[in-house]
Amino acid sequence: MVSIGIDLGGTNIAVGAVSEEGALLSQVCVPTRSQRPYQDVVREMAACVRETLQKAQLPETALRSIGIGVPGAVDPVQGTVIGCSNIPWHGVPLRSEMQRYFSVPVFLENDATVAALAETVCGAAKGAGSCVMLTLGTGVGSGIILNGRPWNGAFRQGGEIGHMVLYPNGVPCACGRNGCVERYCSATALALRGKQACWAHPDSLILEKAGGDIEGITARMVMDAAKEGDAPALRAVSAFADALALTIDNIINFLDPEIIVLGGGVSRAGAFLLDAVLPRIPTTDRLDPRTLPSIVLAQLGSEAGVIGAAMLQ
Ligand SMILES: [Zn+2]
Repeated sequence: MVSIGIDLGGTNIAVGAVSEEGALLSQVCVPTRSQRPYQDVVREMAACVRETLQKAQLPETALRSIGIGVPGAVDPVQGTVIGCSNIPWHGVPLRSEMQRYFSVPVFLENDATVAALAETVCGAAKGAGSCVMLTLGTGVGSGIILNGRPWNGAFRQGGEIGHMVLYPNGVPCACGRNGCVERYCSATALALRGKQACWAHPDSLILEKAGGDIEGITARMVMDAAKEGDAPALRAVSAFADALALTIDNIINFLDPEIIVLGGGVSRAGAFLLDAVLPRIPTTDRLDPRTLPSIVLAQLGSEAGVIGAAMLQ
């Protein structure tokens, strides 16, 4: 038996057949074209499910379940998408629409939670009883896994670490608060720090990497310039690491998970990111030594969305 995992993104939809051990057997990817009616998107998803099964040479009777990771808020009980940030879906009955094509169970979950589940089942946090994953991308997504299961709170409002307030007088956030984690720990935030560094220091290596185009600066360019010892880039990474370490310190105080996994675009900086962040996390509490969780890089990369969605049950 296999499960299908669907990673619904703002740009692409990835559909994969996943074995019970978490192995990706086949995959199909199509553009989301999210402006069309949701019924059309789901019809194409269903076609992709069939194509994925065919590629893996599996009959439809081998299909156990379909899981869908959604870039936004979902109600897994009702099977609806409450709202998304980059797909214009509000109150979409995604499960019932998908069940027009397949009679197997269909599960929905937030995409960051799905990625955390995948890392816990077969990635960087394999075997951990508790795990928090931070996805440091355009925003900051987060997933909490407790006792092997996703935790989103009693009212589906939990696990929004990206919108915890780090600095009450800080940068305004789209959510209406000021100084959210997302405004300081996302790839977007690091790129912005890089741009600000180049306005003050146009001789920075960051600007050279961007071909002289300040607006073209990405988080990766800032990281790469810092790795080469560029002082403005190192200061930008240092400020970024301060904010990320403070976020992790808060997570430890609040939840004390066994493992914290860092994923998303910024995590591709690898050991350089960990070397910047780890020494900034306090190792004592009220002068007593503190046991820190393992803080590791995500292992599954872009496949986590599909694999984790297939793991939903
Ligand atoms: Zn916010």
